[in-house]
Amino acid sequence: MRDCGECQVCCWLYCIPELDKPPRTNCKHQCASGCAIHEQPRPPICTDFVCCWKKLDWPEELRPDKCHVVFSDCHCGKNGRRIFVAVQANPYARLRRDVKGWAEQLARRGHLFLFTYEGEEGPEYAGLFNERLYPGCSAQALLDIVTSLDSGGIQQVRDWHARHGGDAPDAG
Ligand code: SF4
Ligand code: SF4
Repeated sequence: MRDCGECQVCCWLYCIPELDKPPRTNCKHQCASGCAIHEQPRPPICTDFVCCWKKLDWPEELRPDKCHVVFSDCHCGKNGRRIFVAVQANPYARLRRDVKGWAEQLARRGHLFLFTYEGEEGPEYAGLFNERLYPGCSAQALLDIVTSLDSGGIQQVRDWHARHGGDAPDAG
């Protein structure tokens, strides 16, 4: 897997209740080399999270500190269709040419992008890219599902795929 390089966006972007950290603020443990407590016990999101740019070797210009969006993939259907959650560092990052072009390219292969923007009081924006391919799926409903990956949420995604002809995502 590639290195994060100078990017530290996920340590700034996400809310981490265990660290009392609101969204879009620096974590108190950030340092020049990344995380000052990397070898110590950390919240699960810190030890488990890897963004799509890093994991899937996406184009260099989509490194989150360059494109202002952190992409993660939450569900993968048996035919390879994925649901990518794209959390914007600013509310208009989805309109950037590089971000939009990439979403269009992957949408043509059947993938779904859920763009979100997290405000002080919770989600302020949730919108689907590729609504034509995924009709009848409300962005807020999908957001609720992917942010609560419990068995009920997975069943809801299965039901939705069944209604609209896609493959069910793998559980877990
Ligand atoms: S957003 Fe991705 S590339 Fe940036 S620090 Fe997090 S895991 Fe690394
Ligand atoms: S504890 Fe480390 S990995 Fe977790 S958000 Fe803070 S700097 Fe990032």
